[in-house]
Amino acid sequence: MHRPGSDADELDRQRKASRVKRWTDRDTGLKHTLISLDPLRDASLWNVIDTHLARLRQDPTNDGRSFDELKVEAVIAAVQPGNSTPRIPGVVVHVDAASLCHGRHDTTLCETIDGEPLPVSTVQRLCCEALLQAVVVNPDGTVDQLCRELRTANRQQRRMLAAMYPTCAHPHCQVGFSQCRIHHIEWFTNGGKTVLANLLPLCETHHHLVHEGGWNLTIDEHRHVTWLKPDGTIWHTDTGPPRTHRDPPPDRARGRPPDADHHERDPDGRLHLVH
Ligand SMILES: [Zn+2]
Ligand SMILES: [Zn+2]
Repeated sequence: MHRPGSDADELDRQRKASRVKRWTDRDTGLKHTLISLDPLRDASLWNVIDTHLARLRQDPTNDGRSFDELKVEAVIAAVQPGNSTPRIPGVVVHVDAASLCHGRHDTTLCETIDGEPLPVSTVQRLCCEALLQAVVVNPDGTVDQLCRELRTANRQQRRMLAAMYPTCAHPHCQVGFSQCRIHHIEWFTNGGKTVLANLLPLCETHHHLVHEGGWNLTIDEHRHVTWLKPDGTIWHTDTGPPRTHRDPPPDRARGRPPDADHHERDPDGRLHLVH
């Protein structure tokens, strides 16, 4: 829930204060780039850099090169487009189950892998597209893994959502589907699964509004979405996927959206995959 002065506000402040500065050292001719980032984006950036660094250090052709040399190469590799980065999560965070399910408490653990504290609501937002691993920390410090669950929509689910929602599901938002996150309407602690009926595309701003802002969404079997404000009042109830009431069905002759040939649409806008 959003509160003035909350840790979500602190992260927002750090995000706005983030800067990139670049200058040349006149004496050495070296170029300097100073990147000041909030803890979340810093963790995300270094997750990629560390992955490249680990790969470079394992490569026997790099034997004899210094750690600093390899670190520079890893940073360059991380920012080069088209570099074959392994499929890795954007950021690794540690959070205890009670905080994740019920919010902050006296002994909350909610931080980046480097130990930088993060708002619980932000980590709950990240969990909409994440691999969750539940572990129990034993008294001797060892851990047992309980389960792993991939909470990210698969390709087929993304295609079906894209056919229903050309843009963010917020009624006044024009951000395209490809820029959206796939939100789990029912939170996983309430049994919400990564199934089409429980997924909705939201742009970064509106995904933020739902999690850090404390807005609540519900959806019925016709995909009518109700937006509840943090004070419990209904802000908006829509009439299903936008294409059923805003746009005529795409004309085959004038070019259908990608993958549309594989889909048939009910009158109420629900999709069926056709093989
Ligand atoms: Zn979400
Ligand atoms: Zn939006």
